[in-house]
Amino acid sequence: MGHDTAPTRPLVNGAEMPLLGLGTYPMDDAEAGAAVVHALEAGYRMIDTAENYRNEEGVGHGIARAGLARAELFITTKFNKEWHSREGVRTAWEHSATRLGLDYIDLMLIHWPNPGLGRYVEAWEGLVELLSERKVRAIGTSNFTPAQLTELMKATSVVPDVNQIQHSPWWPRHDELRFHAEHGIASQSWSPLGRGRGLLESPVVAEVAGEHGIEPARIVLRWHVQHGTVPLPKSIDPRRQRENLDVFGFSLSADQVSRLDSLAGGGPAVMDPMEFGH
Ligand code: NDP
Repeated sequence: MGHDTAPTRPLVNGAEMPLLGLGTYPMDDAEAGAAVVHALEAGYRMIDTAENYRNEEGVGHGIARAGLARAELFITTKFNKEWHSREGVRTAWEHSATRLGLDYIDLMLIHWPNPGLGRYVEAWEGLVELLSERKVRAIGTSNFTPAQLTELMKATSVVPDVNQIQHSPWWPRHDELRFHAEHGIASQSWSPLGRGRGLLESPVVAEVAGEHGIEPARIVLRWHVQHGTVPLPKSIDPRRQRENLDVFGFSLSADQVSRLDSLAGGGPAVMDPMEFGH
């Protein structure tokens, strides 16, 4: 080993979260098992999975094979709309913990709000119970709007530790990030590299990468870090995984950050949580 781990930050409900994690969608169980072993060896400590990815067992095998102390790890999972009730969340926890082979989960998220179903407040109340029982160390949401987060906080007076949203230089999400920061909610970025759709190949990213003499992905991930968000880059490739973690030892200048900011609006539209969800 001997590889550096990411720095961490405190979350509102008391846990400590790494500032970068490994994404695992779309990996199957076998890919996820191998990727998690490589990532943990490379110094990753946070792994992001979900019921919906159907790879929690593979992630769990990777965790077991790597053999790190449990306290070193920060494992995130998310549950589907079928479990949006207080009892349902408890069942979702049992299923995920069993598949992962864990007796507690570090961070559990409501995967999508599904406003048509209208039961995300009940799902949140279920998570608050799990937190008080220490079955989870932190609780949060994914793809929630500021208005939906406000509803959760009004109903329970418990602030979500995390809201995980689609965020990259293409999708700056200023309103959401400002709202999160005002309330102490940590922002995690999904598709931080733009999911292989051309962000890394854009001339601006190439130019800044050239100025540092490093890979484009590291430039984009450093952009996230300097905006105060926590990226979850997915890679099955051990070399890319190492590259992606190596973003805490250099800085972008203000001018480089603003050139990357100018990519806003350049990619596909953000997925709308009022329309989409599982
Ligand atoms: P990313 O932005 O992480 O992009 C992943 C793609 O980039 C893959 O094709 C990967 O290929 C490639 N890649 C990774 N590193 C490099 C590199 N250094 N150089 C060049 N290419 C690279 O997209 P994702 O959509 O996967 O998002 C990340 C994670 O966010 C997911 O895995 C998942 O955990 C989470 N997520 C959450 C959602 C939610 O609703 N909460 C929705 C979608 C994702 P390769 O693997 O071959 O290296």
